[in-house]
Amino acid sequence: MTQPVYFFGDGAAEGGAAMKPLLGSKGANLAEMTNIGIPVPPGFIVTTQVCMRYLAERRLSEEVRTAVRAAMARLERATGRTFGGAERPLLVSVRSGAAVSMPGMMDTILNLGLNDTTAVAMGRQAGNPRFAYDSYRRLVQMYGDVVFGLKAQPGEQDPFEASLEAARQAHGVERDIDLSPDDLRELVGRFKAIVARSAGHPFPEDPWEQLWGAIEAVFRSWQNKRAAEYRRVHRIADDLGTALSVVAMVYGNMGEDSGTGVAFTRDPSTGERCLYGEYLVNAQGEDVVAGTRDPEPIATMVGRWPDAFHELEETAQRLEQHFRDMQDIEFTVERGRLYLLQTRTGKRTGMAAVRVAVDMVREGLISRSEALRRINPDQLDQVLHPMVDPSQTLPQLARGLPASPGAAVGMVVFDADTAAARAGRGEPVILVRRETSPDDFHGMVAARAILTARGGMTSHAAVVARGMGKCCVAGAKDLEVDEASRCFRANGTVVREGEWITLDGSAGRVILGQARLVTPTPGEEFQELMRWADETRLLRVRTNADTPQDARRAREFGAEGIGLCRTEHMFFEGDRLQAMREMIVAPDLEGRRRALLKLLPMQRRDFVEIFRVMDGFPVTIRLLDPPLHEFLPREDGEIVELSKSLGVTAERMRLAVDVLTEENPMLGHRGCRLGLTYPEITEMQAQAIFEAACEAAGEGVTVIPEVMVPLVADVEELRRQLDLVRGVAERVFAERKRRVEYLLGTMIELPRAALTADRIGKVAEFFSFGTNDLTQTTFGLSRDDAGRFLPFYVETGILADDPFQTLDQEGVGKLIRMAVQLGRESNPKLKMGICGEHGGDPRSVVFCHTVGLNYVSCSPFRVPVARLAAAQAALDDPAPH
Ligand code: PEP
Ligand code: MG
Repeated sequence: MTQPVYFFGDGAAEGGAAMKPLLGSKGANLAEMTNIGIPVPPGFIVTTQVCMRYLAERRLSEEVRTAVRAAMARLERATGRTFGGAERPLLVSVRSGAAVSMPGMMDTILNLGLNDTTAVAMGRQAGNPRFAYDSYRRLVQMYGDVVFGLKAQPGEQDPFEASLEAARQAHGVERDIDLSPDDLRELVGRFKAIVARSAGHPFPEDPWEQLWGAIEAVFRSWQNKRAAEYRRVHRIADDLGTALSVVAMVYGNMGEDSGTGVAFTRDPSTGERCLYGEYLVNAQGEDVVAGTRDPEPIATMVGRWPDAFHELEETAQRLEQHFRDMQDIEFTVERGRLYLLQTRTGKRTGMAAVRVAVDMVREGLISRSEALRRINPDQLDQVLHPMVDPSQTLPQLARGLPASPGAAVGMVVFDADTAAARAGRGEPVILVRRETSPDDFHGMVAARAILTARGGMTSHAAVVARGMGKCCVAGAKDLEVDEASRCFRANGTVVREGEWITLDGSAGRVILGQARLVTPTPGEEFQELMRWADETRLLRVRTNADTPQDARRAREFGAEGIGLCRTEHMFFEGDRLQAMREMIVAPDLEGRRRALLKLLPMQRRDFVEIFRVMDGFPVTIRLLDPPLHEFLPREDGEIVELSKSLGVTAERMRLAVDVLTEENPMLGHRGCRLGLTYPEITEMQAQAIFEAACEAAGEGVTVIPEVMVPLVADVEELRRQLDLVRGVAERVFAERKRRVEYLLGTMIELPRAALTADRIGKVAEFFSFGTNDLTQTTFGLSRDDAGRFLPFYVETGILADDPFQTLDQEGVGKLIRMAVQLGRESNPKLKMGICGEHGGDPRSVVFCHTVGLNYVSCSPFRVPVARLAAAQAALDDPAPH
C-alpha cells in the first residue's frame, strides 16, 4: 500500500491534482490549491486505498491510525490549536470525496472535536458562546445521523428537528439564531439524550473517539444505497472507494462579518464570463444546501466585504487559468478572511458548454481540439431545443423513452382531429395516443408534442417526431390511455382532456402541469464550434429528410445531403394517404396504376423541391418500403370511407384489407418485395425521380440523385429492381433530352445482405446500413414492441444499452464490419453510409468512423450532434481503415 495519509498546509501539499484516483477529486484539488498558494485551511487526506482496505477488513490498521495521529499533530502545529484542548481547541471537518464526483451521495461531518470542555473554550475565544453551542448541537445531530445511522427516513419525523422546534416554541422565538446560548446548551443535552436513547451508545465526548467513528462512517458511506445506485446509473466502478479529507474548520457563522457560499467562474447556464453564485451571511455550508434561508447573489458581496470579494474574484480567475476550465468553488469568509474549501470542474448547460469552450480558445486557454473534445455531443440538443427549466420541481407522472428531444407544454388531447381543431384555434396541445399511425399525422403536425404509451425509439411516433424536430416521449409504460373516456391514468393520477402537462423529450419525462421552459438561441459561438468540427471530421454528415421543409432545416444545421428520403412518408398527409391506400388495396394492376398516377405528380413536385434545397449535394431517395400495416385503414369507419371513394362495397373493402393483413408485417410484404411483385410502383417512383431531376437540372440546379432499394436479402432482388430503374431513367432522359448523373444502391438492413455483401457489392454503387431493421432482424427483436421489456434488460444489466438507441457493436456491428470489408473487396469504389437512427447517436457515430464509412445520415436536429461526434472520432483516430 502507498502512503495512507497526505498532508496539506503551510503553503505546501504532499499531493496534487494528478492524484485523483488516490486522493479523490476534492482532496487532490485541495492539495493542488495549497500548492499554488490559494488560501485553503490546512488538513490531510486519507486515501481511497485505505477506504477499500477498511471496507474489506472493517477495521483501520495500526499503520493508518499512526499516520492519522501524525497528521493531526502537524495540523495542530499548522493552526496553533490542540485537538480536544481546553484553551485553543482544534475542530475539523471530515468529508468524503471520490475520484469521480458523486454530489451529495456520501457523508460529511462538521465541527468535530467539540465537547463540553472545548465548547466553552470556543465560545470564549470567539467572544460568542451562542456560536459555540450552535456548532455543538449541529455536531451531535450530524454525528447521530452519520455514525449511528439515526437519519430520519422520508416521511418519518426527525427527532432532532422535533426537539429544535420544541425549543423554539418553548422560548417563543421563530428562528434558530434567536435562541440564546443557554437555550442552545440545553438543546445539546437533549440531542445527546436522543443519541443515547436511539443508538444505545452515548455521544462520545472524547474527540479521538469522535474522529475514528467519523472516518469509519464516511468510508462506509461509499456502500450506502444511494451511492451504490448513483454508481450504477453513472457506470462508476464499485471498487474505486472514496478518499476523505480532514480539514481544520473555518467558520462562516461567526457573525455578520462571516459567511459561506458557492461560486462559478462563469455563468453555468449561459457561459458568460462573470463570477456567478450566491452566499449566506453568518451561516455554515449546510445552511446553503438545506435551503432553509434564501441566499443572496454574489454581486452584493462587494458592498458588504469588498476585500474578500475582490480576493474571491481574483482567486476564481487564477483557478480557471490553472485548471483551464470553468470551476465550481465553495468558499467561506471568516471574520472578513476568505478561505476556499473546494474547487471542481463546473457542470453546465449545453449552451454554456459551447460558449465556454469557444471563449477559452479565444482567450488562449485551450486548443481547438480540446474545445471540441470537451463538449458532450448530446448536450448540443439543449442548444437547439427548448428545455424544462431545471430549477423547478413539478410532479412527474411517468417516464418513457426520450424519443425526440426538446420540451413542450400543452393541453392533453386524445385524437388527431381534436388536436388539429384545437391547435387551429391557437391552443397548444399535446397529442396522447396509445401508439400513433399515419392517420394521426395531421394531429402530430398540429400538436406541440407527442406522447405514446407504446412503441420504441424507432416507432412511428418517434421517427416522425424526430423528423419534424418535435418533442416526443414514446413507450411510457405506466400510462393507461383511455381514449373512450378521454383521459389517461399514470401511477394513480388521472389526467383528462384539456388538462396541462409538460413533456421532456430529452429525458423521457411526463410532468403534470405547466413547467417553465427555457429556449436557447444558438449563438455565433455555436457556429464557430461547428466550423472547427467540420474542419476536423472525416465522416460526411447527411440527413434523413422526407419533405422539402425537413431538408431545408437540415441544411441550416449543416447537412451535406440527404442520406435517406423515405418516400412513403410523403404519403402521410391528406389526399396523399387516400391515394396510397387506394394503391395498396387495389385488386388489380389497373387499379394500382390509377392510384399511382395520382401519386406521381405529388412525388415529382416534392423531389424537385428537395433537389433545389440540396443543390450540389447528393439526395438518396429510397423506393417504397412500408410495412403495409402502417398504411391500412384500421377502423371500420375508415374502411367504409375508402370503399366509397373507390366505388366498391364496404364488404369488398373489408375483405381486401383482411387479405393484406399480415401476422408479421415487419417481415412481410414490404421493401423491395413490393417493388418486385408490383413493378409498376418502382416504375412510377423512378419516373418521378428522374423527371424531377431533369426539371431541377433544367433550372441550373446541380442534382445528384441516388436511388436506393430497401430490404434486399439477395443480390438478385437488387439486380432486377435496378434494371427496372435504369430502363426508366433512359426513357425519361430520352423524352426530356437531358441526362443527369446518378447512383444506384441498396440498403443493407438484413443479416443475409450483410453476409453476402460481396455479391451485392458487384451490383450496387453504394450501401446504406439500415441499422433499425438490421438490429431488429439480428436480435429478432420487434422495433415496435420491444420497448415493453427492453428497459428491464438495460436496468438489470442484461444489455448495456438499448440496441435501437446505441448500435450493438458486438453483434450488429460485426455484421457491418463484415459487409464493409466484403463490399470493398468486390467493389473498391463502393460508397458507404448509415441511415438508421444510430446515425445521430454519438457512440455509434464513432463506430461508423472507425469502420471507415463515408457518411452518417440522421434526423435534422441530430446533424450538429453527429458533426461534433465525427470530429471527436477523428481526433481520437485520425487514420481509420
Ligand atoms: C432502417 O431500417 O434502419 C432504416 C433506415 O429504414 P426504416 O427505419 O425506414 O425501416
Ligand atoms: Mg429499414
